[in-house]
Amino acid sequence: MGIEPFLIASSINLVVAQRLIRTLCSDCKEPIQESPEMLAAYGFTDIQEDTVFYTANRDSNCMTCGGTGFDGRRAICEALPFTTDIRKHIVTAGETVNEQEIQASAVEDGMVTLQGAARAAVVRGETSVEEMLRVVFTGME
Ligand SMILES: [Zn+2]
Repeated sequence: MGIEPFLIASSINLVVAQRLIRTLCSDCKEPIQESPEMLAAYGFTDIQEDTVFYTANRDSNCMTCGGTGFDGRRAICEALPFTTDIRKHIVTAGETVNEQEIQASAVEDGMVTLQGAARAAVVRGETSVEEMLRVVFTGME
């Protein structure tokens, strides 16, 4: 952006990324058997055995959602606090800041990524794997 790295490092405290994800209609959502291979591929690594995955029922005459299978949306967020380590990384990086390294460092410090937040919403039964893929895995892999 043509801004000196030290200015960015010293003036930003937090960067937040946010997406809206459609929430399943709780009156007509349907349990679905997702393949363990697919779940593993998208990072569902330590889920409880009794976790139920749901999908949108688009063929219902549900009055709550009008047959769309979805009833509203919610935000999923990723918050990256600029820790001392991250500031140091940016200042010493020179012209090319390595975004992957910053993200890895933040995840190590406990940051929940957008993908992680979406997975949590899926595990809570609030949205479907399909919707998660549409919103946060587009253009990845
Ligand atoms: Zn419904």
